[in-house]
Amino acid sequence: MRLVLVGPPGAGKGTQAERMAERLGVPHISTGDLFRANLRDETELGRAAKRYMDAGDLVPDEVTVGMVRDRLDDEDTAKGFILDGFPRNAAQAGSLGGILADKGLQLDAVVQFEVDDEVVVQRLLGRGRSDDNEDTIRNRQRVYRDETAPLLRYYSDQLVTVDAVGEVGEITDRVFSALHARSA
Ligand code: AMP
Repeated sequence: MRLVLVGPPGAGKGTQAERMAERLGVPHISTGDLFRANLRDETELGRAAKRYMDAGDLVPDEVTVGMVRDRLDDEDTAKGFILDGFPRNAAQAGSLGGILADKGLQLDAVVQFEVDDEVVVQRLLGRGRSDDNEDTIRNRQRVYRDETAPLLRYYSDQLVTVDAVGEVGEITDRVFSALHARSA
């Protein structure tokens, strides 16, 4: 299964991606996690990404796409993958299409996590990550609305929408039901 997860910051994509990856036996590829690992290790990539992450802005596409391209070359993606937090704008979606086309592959589905903005701010403020202050959160929401949400239309043929408010396990069940319903 090759899946992309899309949803506003704090929609619980990361948690669901972990659970889905485990169930499907494919890697969970979170660009946010990859960037945070690079920050922690003080790599050049981490240094290039830091100020954008601190502000809640998108890291430039060439940096992000290069990182994803490398990750998708790893052998563990042969059985599939769950992309969490990428693509986040039209250019990245185009690049992903190109990367997959070069490998003769396609996405199986794009899963949209639907959740209200206010629910999400409360959740994020409770999470305590360094980019989880209210200004940064509001900026990340704006970036999502302006740059990422338009992808939902771009992916309309592959789109599976899930209500992301509720108990964690229940939401995972919804995701798999929706995916099965789609492939049935
Ligand atoms: P996340 O953990 O997905 O919320 O990502 C945290 C931060 O990493 C974002 O606010 C961006 O600064 C950066 N980031 C993650 N994914 C991407 C992406 N696909 N394109 C650009 N920046 C990204």
